[in-house]
Amino acid sequence: MNSIDLEKAHWKELEHLAIDMAILPWGATEPHNRHLPYGTDTLCSRAVALEAVARIPEDSPLSIAVLPAMPYGVNTGQRDLNLCISIRPSLQYRLLEEIALTLREQKIPKLMIVNGHGGNNFKPLLRELQQNVPELFCCFTNWWTLKDGDEYFREQGDHAGELETSVMQYLYPELVLPLSEAGKGASRGFRPAGLSSRAVWAPREWTKVSSDTGVGNPAASSPLKAERFFTDAAKTLATYIADIAATDNSDLYE
Ligand SMILES: [Zn+2]
Repeated sequence: MNSIDLEKAHWKELEHLAIDMAILPWGATEPHNRHLPYGTDTLCSRAVALEAVARIPEDSPLSIAVLPAMPYGVNTGQRDLNLCISIRPSLQYRLLEEIALTLREQKIPKLMIVNGHGGNNFKPLLRELQQNVPELFCCFTNWWTLKDGDEYFREQGDHAGELETSVMQYLYPELVLPLSEAGKGASRGFRPAGLSSRAVWAPREWTKVSSDTGVGNPAASSPLKAERFFTDAAKTLATYIADIAATDNSDLYE
């Protein structure tokens, strides 16, 4: 098993190495209530990708490269929040396509995106990519959904709530401010019926949804809960990566 953290790797080791799959962690740069850092989604998606690849058994013949994490995501409803940096879905597609075209040129057969930000919607992007770069098999996971958070947390929350805060307390305790600094993460939904159901969807204006930018109360967060959740998610992701990477692109269907 060759697991490569590309950001820290050298040409000397990689020049002649055939790569089975590239992993692209994709985050965002956005405020997370008052207590978590702007890079939370980027840091977490990179951490789980690296942890998963590290858990693939040593005797596996695979070579997997974790690419540097993409720090900008789609935050179109949060552009008025200081230093929240948003890219459009159309630019996100262009970035993805350029990476895919480069990997194709290098005969790397597969790419997996490990997404950590709810505003990034990769389904339409992968459909576009399937049409434009069919030689590259591309898939994505929203890593927060690898395990059922309800089994680990009292109330997961949606943004900087118990789940995300716990994971940051576990992975990067030095970056989490005391929870006494945090807002309660109270949120408001849409007024019209339909928009408040799951049947009709519209993007939200974040400052109208939450006054502290959080959605979900972080008060019950704990690094111990997150240790279980994060480790279980990384284990599951490791088996998925190993299985997908080991399967030839011509043999993906039953
Ligand atoms: Zn987040």
